Amino acid sequence: MTFDEISGNEKIFEELKNAARCGQISHAYILEGAIDIHKEMIAKAFAKSILCKEHRGSGCNSCVICNKIEHGNHEDVFFLEKEENSIKDEDVVRLQDRLRNKPLGERNIAILKDADTMTLRAQNRLLKTLEEPPDGTVIMLLSENTESLIKTIVSRCIVVRLPSTESLEDDALRLLAETTAEALLAGRPFYELKKTLAAVLSDKKQALAFLDALEVFYGRKAVGNNETDRLYPKAYLYGQVGAIEETRRSLRGNGTVGYALKRFLLKSME
Ligand SMILES: [Zn+2]
Repeated sequence: MTFDEISGNEKIFEELKNAARCGQISHAYILEGAIDIHKEMIAKAFAKSILCKEHRGSGCNSCVICNKIEHGNHEDVFFLEKEENSIKDEDVVRLQDRLRNKPLGERNIAILKDADTMTLRAQNRLLKTLEEPPDGTVIMLLSENTESLIKTIVSRCIVVRLPSTESLEDDALRLLAETTAEALLAGRPFYELKKTLAAVLSDKKQALAFLDALEVFYGRKAVGNNETDRLYPKAYLYGQVGAIEETRRSLRGNGTVGYALKRFLLKSME
């Protein structure tokens, strides 16, 4: 997705788009928000707006550059995420080595998912890069809890605060539904699904909104006729919609969110 396709946050996006359009891009940003895939979507949109040559400042979402960024295989866009529970010193060493290479295109961009899980040593190492970043480099730290980052890191970044789960935007919900549906269809393991749904697992209102979004997604697949729609057999879709109904009933009754959604996931995986 590009900024123009993500609704909400227009003011924030406008500033990022402007920066990309004029080339006045800071070397480091913190994207702070509760939902991992939402932050990642915005980081990718920003990377597209910086590197896309078709639509500088917004990204076109159809050129080779945008496509590679979307699929996480652009040569100049480096992703780093936690292994086990944290991003460790040696991960940041790897990042620094990578950023020393000149980009093939205009800039190197590093996207650190789970940046707030960096160990203190890792943070202090990253700080050196933030103090003297290689020319043209843009580093995006995706973080849920910026208080876990040392102040010297935060002060060297532009902090972009995204809406919290209470105001989960439609796009974020849609994306969450899509990701969950795809993960269920692909038979991804339970713990992974649970992690994806972490943002809605504690809040009944969000959970219901998520189920609505998931039902809309399945509804579209049922009437759609393109290649990806056909991956979803009709009988499967009806089964899923039934399971959504049941989960909704349980949530509107006395069911706890965690339990109801877990049951839904397990049923969907049968
Ligand atoms: Zn493009």
